[in-house]
Amino acid sequence: MSDQTQAQSPSYRPLPDRVVVVGAGMAGVQTAVALREQGFPGTVVLIGAEPHQPYDRPPLSKAVLLGKAEGSAFDVDFEALDIDLRLGSEALGVRPGDHELDTAAGPVPYDVLVVATGAEPIRLPGAEGVPGVHLLRTLDDAERLRPVLARQHDIVVVGAGWIGAEFATAAREAGCAVTVVEAADRPLAGALPAEVAAPMAAWYADSGATLRTGARVERIEPGAVVLDDGSRVPADAVVVGIGARPATAWIAGSGIELGAHREILADDHLRTSLPDVYAVGDCASFPSGRYEERLLVHHWDNALQGPRTVALNIVGQTPAAYDPVPYFWSEQFGRFVQYVGHHAPGDTLLWRGDPAGASWSVCWLREGRLVALLAVGRPRDLAQGRRLIEAGAAMDPELLADPSRPLKGATA
Ligand SMILES: Cc1cc2nc3c(=O)[nH]c(=O)nc-3n(C[C@H](O)[C@H](O)[C@H](O)COP(=O)(O)OP(=O)(O)OC[C@H]3O[C@@H](n4cnc5c(N)ncnc54)[C@H](O)[C@@H]3O)c2cc1C
Repeated sequence: MSDQTQAQSPSYRPLPDRVVVVGAGMAGVQTAVALREQGFPGTVVLIGAEPHQPYDRPPLSKAVLLGKAEGSAFDVDFEALDIDLRLGSEALGVRPGDHELDTAAGPVPYDVLVVATGAEPIRLPGAEGVPGVHLLRTLDDAERLRPVLARQHDIVVVGAGWIGAEFATAAREAGCAVTVVEAADRPLAGALPAEVAAPMAAWYADSGATLRTGARVERIEPGAVVLDDGSRVPADAVVVGIGARPATAWIAGSGIELGAHREILADDHLRTSLPDVYAVGDCASFPSGRYEERLLVHHWDNALQGPRTVALNIVGQTPAAYDPVPYFWSEQFGRFVQYVGHHAPGDTLLWRGDPAGASWSVCWLREGRLVALLAVGRPRDLAQGRRLIEAGAAMDPELLADPSRPLKGATA
């Protein structure tokens, strides 16, 4: 630690000399950039396993997949910011007693460590290494899939979640025959209640894709996916989109406390159970005071917002607890879908508009207050809803259900 002088206050903490950030995705890059924005003068090392210049993931299932964009590298000048970027370097473990990170290239000392290793896709049992089976998480994955789309093959997508829907959208646009097989009885079963997912299921057929729900993959054979009812679906290629889990296997045994989903259990300032170690982005959950439960958020906005809290902590300011209103978007079947907030099973659901139409929203109320909103083609609802959720506004259900009325005019 440096002996740089700072005003001595009860919250005084010496400024570290050297911050090491592991994971050069959105959360890692933003942490390094936020440290410089906060005036951090010391060494910042950013270590990433992938060989590519750090890049943004959302375009991978959209413009990059369709060849409309070559790549999605972040517009960050690491050299100008004096960030020591080490690519193609995998972290293998943490030795907290020595304040050292082990990497394939040797040990890296840290005063403060930030873990931002994101998430990795869940693999389909038995499909590993089978030719023609793909995942969609990295730039390499997207580049492998581009020629598959260009060949206009028969494609089977396993999983009707956010990634499955976006991939199916791109594959239909490229002219492929697409069948999506989903083990649950509806798309997005883990994220949305049945009545909200119902109109979204119709989007698959509208786009010319076949959606088969209640369908489990038994095995993958050359040229086909065999389902548990014995049916064979022709497949020149298979794309597996059945979720992602935190990429934390490498910290096993370090003493960093993990949760049931292998996520790092961070506190409300994104500190881990180890001193001088923070965790941010897809790899970590945090306790939400707003929603009174621990949240594990696998969306871009969380990887954008969390780093600011981490950087403020590191430079010795004590920021407010990290308690965001989560936000994400998805572009599927020609629709712009946005979700803000967080709902739970007991919340009251209210529709704004006709779900068979081009644009509609769904609101969730808890004790009369807006806690979450899903907007399809209604970005204004989203923007206003976000502010109302942040403010904890009490709503008038009757006014809220009228889609011709601005959402902000529907407060009680
Ligand atoms: C195809 C796709 C489309 C998406 N679209 C949307 C969208 O439309 N809207 C939305 O809100 N969200 C979207 N997301 C989610 C969003 O991209 C993620 O939430 C965000 O990327 C999380 O950032 P992160 O930095 O926490 O993790 P990641 O982006 O996963 O970055 C982590 C990085 O750490 C590296 N790493 C892992 N282990 C190690 C190790 N041991 N040593 C060194 N480096 C390591 C990884 O290689 C990776 O580069 C999408 C995700 C994908 C995959």
